[in-house]
Amino acid sequence: MKSDSSPFTVKGSRRVLTVVGARPQFIKSAALTRSLKGSGWKQWLVHAGQHVDDDMGLDFLSELHVPMPDARIRPSQSGRSQRLSDMMLGVAEQIESVNPSAVVVYGDTDATLAGALAAHHAQVPLVHVEAGLRSGDRGMPEEHNRVLTDQLSDLLCTTGPEATRQLLKEGVSKERISEVGDVMLDVALAAKLLVHGRFPPLWPKEASQVLAVTMHRPATVDDPSKLKSALDVLSSWAERTGGQVYFPIHPRTKGNMERFGLNLPARVIDPGPLGYIDMQAALFHSDRVLTDSGGVQKEAWFQGTSAVILRSTTEWRELIKLGASELFDPEKLKASEGASELLERLAFDRTVPNVVGSGLFGEGQAAPRVLSALETFLT
Ligand code: UDP
Repeated sequence: MKSDSSPFTVKGSRRVLTVVGARPQFIKSAALTRSLKGSGWKQWLVHAGQHVDDDMGLDFLSELHVPMPDARIRPSQSGRSQRLSDMMLGVAEQIESVNPSAVVVYGDTDATLAGALAAHHAQVPLVHVEAGLRSGDRGMPEEHNRVLTDQLSDLLCTTGPEATRQLLKEGVSKERISEVGDVMLDVALAAKLLVHGRFPPLWPKEASQVLAVTMHRPATVDDPSKLKSALDVLSSWAERTGGQVYFPIHPRTKGNMERFGLNLPARVIDPGPLGYIDMQAALFHSDRVLTDSGGVQKEAWFQGTSAVILRSTTEWRELIKLGASELFDPEKLKASEGASELLERLAFDRTVPNVVGSGLFGEGQAAPRVLSALETFLT
């Protein structure tokens, strides 16, 4: 394990050490980074190195005006435990040299848990942004990361009332909870201003309808029969509607397609991994979304498009209640009836309610609220 860094020069007590390690966390951190600017706070951004592929990690930072990380940990990629422990030790070293007044972690990855453990061991106040989310699926490593990080956190910033209620139910005292909204909405709304006239690479402008797709979770793409069935559904959808499918294929999914001998069906376009703004543009311009991603299911709604979520559970139940999205268990894809059912679901087009005015997810004000919760908490 190696860690590259330069010494932190800021003196004084208002400094925060932020741990990010995977693409969604860089995106989430963009909102708070913007709020911190000019606030008197300094941030030290640590890249814990969970994603090693730079296409997936760093190339979109400039688009989001997020500075490059101040320190980069290079954990061993030889196994989950080794990687977790390398990330934790790397963050611990950073905490020791930076001496921050608080550590901020986002979401539910192994980098989140590594940052949380390191802050806890160093007895530095820990802030968890996106606290209290539960899918109820204990088979997901992310679910364990969420629960453990929440247990260790001192200030728990939630995205909405469901997450707040969950924490109260688990015995977290209400003084430690701040319901701020979703920082991803802050970033998505900023992106929405840019996407009207912008089309992502290879966008099928002439198509009558476009289905935007992302799939990368093991539960969808690691089983050859499910992955084949999902690709068949995309092909049938395009044939049936005369539309085109826009599918930026995740490296994991691409690797599996090669291994399982599965080709990209006709009328399905793969532009390769997209920059964040291009991804938002794809969601904005598409007619329907199919995704198994935690972030994209919300972003579809943020950009005004309804989604079928290829998962049996979601930690974003608001989306289902609101009628913006519906769940579809990928296990069903093992049977041909399941594939037909998914095709029917994708055909059903629904209009989604507006984000602004919904009262949900903080309506774009989550990051300033995290900052003010942090200030209140530390005084
Ligand atoms: N994303 C992106 N380009 C892509 C695919 C995804 O910028 O080609 C963004 C997506 O909009 C979301 C984030 O990456 O904000 C996380 O999505 P991903 O599917 O990688 O992970 P998950 O949300 O399931 O953790």
